Amino acid sequence: MDRTIVVQLNPTKEQMAVLDQTMQEHTECFNAVCRQGFQTGCSNGIELHKATYYPLRAEHPDLPAQLVCASRVKATEAVKSALTWKKKHEASYPKLVAKAEKQGRPAPKFKPVRCPQAVSAPIRYDARSYWVKWQSMTCSLATVSGRVEMTFTVPKHALKYVGGKVCSADLCFHHGRYFLHVVVSLPAPTIEPTDCVIGIDLGLNRPAVTSNRHFLGDSRWKEQERRMFRIRRKLQRKGTKSAKRHLKKLSGKLFRQRRDHDHVLSKRIVQNATPGSTLVLENLTNIRESSKIGRGKNGKNVESKRRIHSWSFAQFYSFLAYKAEARGMTVVKVDPRHTSQTCSKCGYQARNNRRSQSLFLCRQCGYCLNADLNGALNIREKHLSTLASFGIALTSGSPMSSGLSQPSSGELQAPVL
Ligand SMILES: [Zn+2]
Repeated sequence: MDRTIVVQLNPTKEQMAVLDQTMQEHTECFNAVCRQGFQTGCSNGIELHKATYYPLRAEHPDLPAQLVCASRVKATEAVKSALTWKKKHEASYPKLVAKAEKQGRPAPKFKPVRCPQAVSAPIRYDARSYWVKWQSMTCSLATVSGRVEMTFTVPKHALKYVGGKVCSADLCFHHGRYFLHVVVSLPAPTIEPTDCVIGIDLGLNRPAVTSNRHFLGDSRWKEQERRMFRIRRKLQRKGTKSAKRHLKKLSGKLFRQRRDHDHVLSKRIVQNATPGSTLVLENLTNIRESSKIGRGKNGKNVESKRRIHSWSFAQFYSFLAYKAEARGMTVVKVDPRHTSQTCSKCGYQARNNRRSQSLFLCRQCGYCLNADLNGALNIREKHLSTLASFGIALTSGSPMSSGLSQPSSGELQAPVL
């Protein structure tokens, strides 16, 4: 399994100047390839190489050939994603216009997708253009004036990965300092997969509920994020000099806060499951397009709309995936449709089964439990039925066989309606 360690470089003043120069020339190459690719609509690496390599080499004679190629590789990725986005964007625009016309609103303005451009493009180093020595904590990088050797500092939390086999690395410039994102390859743990399957329901009020009845995450998070958002909005509206100074201080705080929450939540989920089990999540990648929540104008819906649209599902999923990998777990995504409306006991599906944010009461069999827990059980069931359709039947680890299906156990008992 691969892990990325972010180490801070400690260059001397002269080395700093060399790195600056290298970064600048690399970024110029990156932008040139991006322009070429975007204007011609070409995202083929070989074609872009043919078109740009020799002109760029002539333009930047000091920049090592390896780095010219590296800039082209990075630019190709950027062009590819920009072109895909452009295609999608142009295809969806007529639909937006038609919709606006139908509702009697003025047509939205067309915002064309622009050519990708970087202020400082990270440099991808590989075995031929850099090395790292863990014993002496030194690294050597190819630059405009040959190889440059310098020391680096490893953050405390990453020390456990030091000494692993080094793969590629990215050199990034951030807030006046240089960081090397080193990819380290570590041996995967030898944990046998078990039959245990755990469904996880993600939500805005309850961050995560698992099918074995763990309610994870802090309910304070919602309020914390909201507070930060409100402060930011207030300052943005004010627009004075002092407000701008405060905004600068806050910049990235919301992002860091959410990242912390995602880290904590994914860690707790992994700790609450036995090694080797399978974690089943809803696939919320397209929640922005498919969500019906927040299509209104009253206050509460606008609030949930904002939260849905700022949900960091992809980030959370990547955190969970790598934490699970270290404990021999697999993470699967299932289709989230109807998981919150279906009864996990009898399978009856109706929108009004869910009585409130937290209460689920089946219209048919009267089964009553926490709505998020019901969702988690359905998510688990969905994965098991997919497995069954492939002819794989899991016998053990079912919540139904371990006494978890009795709804009458204390806190999950429904209030009398
Ligand atoms: Zn039912």
